[in-house]
Amino acid sequence: MKLLSIASGSSGNCYYVGNSDTHILVDAGVSGKKIENGLREIGIKPSELNGVLVTHEHIDHVKGLGIIARKYGVPIYATRGTIEGITANKTLGQIDEELYRTVSPDQVFEINDISVDPTAIWHDANDPVCYSMSNDGKKISIATDLGDYDDYIVDKLKNSDIMVIEANHDVRMLEAGSYPYYLKRRILGSHGHLSNERSGQLIKELLNDHIKGILLGHLSKENNFEELAYETVKLEMAGNSFSNDVRDFGLCVARRDMPGHIIETN
Ligand SMILES: [Zn+2]
Ligand SMILES: [Zn+2]
Repeated sequence: MKLLSIASGSSGNCYYVGNSDTHILVDAGVSGKKIENGLREIGIKPSELNGVLVTHEHIDHVKGLGIIARKYGVPIYATRGTIEGITANKTLGQIDEELYRTVSPDQVFEINDISVDPTAIWHDANDPVCYSMSNDGKKISIATDLGDYDDYIVDKLKNSDIMVIEANHDVRMLEAGSYPYYLKRRILGSHGHLSNERSGQLIKELLNDHIKGILLGHLSKENNFEELAYETVKLEMAGNSFSNDVRDFGLCVARRDMPGHIIETN
């Protein structure tokens, strides 16, 4: 399997996961055009998509969903609460009801040869989940938009070969920044977004000796920057020891509005 981040950040999220037979998007939070262009980088036509897994109904995860669903008839996998949220959002336009497939946390399902395992996450949406996808003994997990994590989430994400983990903000930048008080409270709360430090702590718990890549995603434009997220997470991974030869497990930062490089499980 391979992973391509098409866009990642507060202004839009979309990832491709697939192999030679099966092609999946996780979220469709950018324009249809950007999704088409991202897929072109890896030679996939949108009409070849087997499904879009939606994590939750916030606009930065569903903005291009209506277009992709209407234009290419791609099935949409989401929890009941998320489907309600999508249906209530009139800006997405009409989506054929027949395209929806309802999923539930911990109920594993198959899209062709890829098994998908949804995990409930802490976020201020109707019924948000993150997803792990497995095929042929390899596992890719994508977990963004988490206010915090617990042992359940660690348990569900562990043993991944590739992971995308949110590193949303630097707590000090957020506190000192220009966001209104209520928004700071929301982001810092247990149902908001994961800070760089907390992201590093989660990643440390998920480390294993077969990791091929760790992508930091959903960075805030206002309250973070790439080098800071990378260095903070790396420091946490190393148990706060300043050592130059710390293994970084292929740690890198997803680009905000352009595709990154392809990461492969084997
Ligand atoms: Zn969200
Ligand atoms: Zn988001």
